[in-house]
Amino acid sequence: MNKHIAVLAGDGIGPEITAGAVEVLRAVADRFSHTFTFEPLLMGGCAIDACGEPLPAHTVERCLSSDSVLLGAVGGPKWDTLPGDKRPEKGLLGIRKAMGLYSNIRPAKLWKALADASPLRRELVAGGVEIVVVRELTGGIYFGERGKGSDAVMGETAWDTEKYSEREIERITRIACELARRRSGRIISVDKANVLESSRLWRKTVHAYAGKYYPDVTVTDMLVDNAAMQIVKDPAQFDVLLTSNLFGDILSDEAAQVTGSIGMLASSSLGDTTCGLYEPIHGSAPDIAGRDIANPIATILAAAMMLRDSFGMQKEYAAVEHAVEETLAEGWRTADIFSEGTKQIGCREMARRIAEHI
Ligand code: NAD
Repeated sequence: MNKHIAVLAGDGIGPEITAGAVEVLRAVADRFSHTFTFEPLLMGGCAIDACGEPLPAHTVERCLSSDSVLLGAVGGPKWDTLPGDKRPEKGLLGIRKAMGLYSNIRPAKLWKALADASPLRRELVAGGVEIVVVRELTGGIYFGERGKGSDAVMGETAWDTEKYSEREIERITRIACELARRRSGRIISVDKANVLESSRLWRKTVHAYAGKYYPDVTVTDMLVDNAAMQIVKDPAQFDVLLTSNLFGDILSDEAAQVTGSIGMLASSSLGDTTCGLYEPIHGSAPDIAGRDIANPIATILAAAMMLRDSFGMQKEYAAVEHAVEETLAEGWRTADIFSEGTKQIGCREMARRIAEHI
């Protein structure tokens, strides 16, 4: 297959970690006889420096005509004093919007070799943990009506509105069902239906849609307060976790923490087409940028998700995952996941070793 991939390296460690992911993708192309071409594009602080804006129109246009987009991370102290709409992060929101990405998928996997990195007791995670949070990304309280006022008795007031439509819930349910089909066939859908009207619509719509179009997928419901507790009590019970924007924001960070290191976790954002945005969940880590010590694995796993979810390359995805597993099993570690008895290497060397295992 021929695939054209837009690469938004961004700022800080962005260029180092995306270079590592591109090296691994080249190894995949060699082994499985694909042709991948890579187009570097500007977004974030580097785009502000080069053309005065965080998301140049050329970047948007080229991303939209690519097969998929790989992103490093954006931002850093150099641009922190700029006004809100001129900041690097604005580029990120802009590209998500331009690409119509309404779902965010974040797998939180505990790698066997890193079991000790989990803050949970060993027996709770001994059987392995992989929670895939499917979070609705463009609706709910972050985008609902909001306002401020004042009350003579109570003082200042402020409000935000949680609002969802059937169509918004159906399309994120479809993404979760497609994913569940390729995995355990089970979804846990999180809401607060005992209190919130919007959650009652969420629950009703998820069941109606999944029941009609994905009868082979089992959906069970869990209240968000219980879900927050269960993730630390018995994380192995989860596979695909379907959530609204707000609940997903919180639960995906909790699930990520169960697995230990931020440098290991990838995420993808998808909309109605197969052209998605794939990135690590961490930021640009300016404190370690340019020193060849960043962990490239989150970005390499993001590239693997691109192979599977945008290009339908299941075997290629598995090859990358296996290569990461092997490299860790041999004891190679970047500084953030280093522990007594393992061998420390830099970002470039980690990517090279993973690519060699493909
Ligand atoms: P961060 O995720 O960049 O860093 C938090 C800590 O984790 C730091 O100590 C960092 O060194 C470490 N870390 C992160 N990624 C690592 C990796 N791959 N390997 C080893 N260590 C790693 O979060 P922050 O410090 O809060 O933010 C720094 C900048 O990144 C800010 O400008 C912020 O706005 C931006 N940011 C961007 C994104 C994005 O582009 N998607 C996301 C979050 C933060």
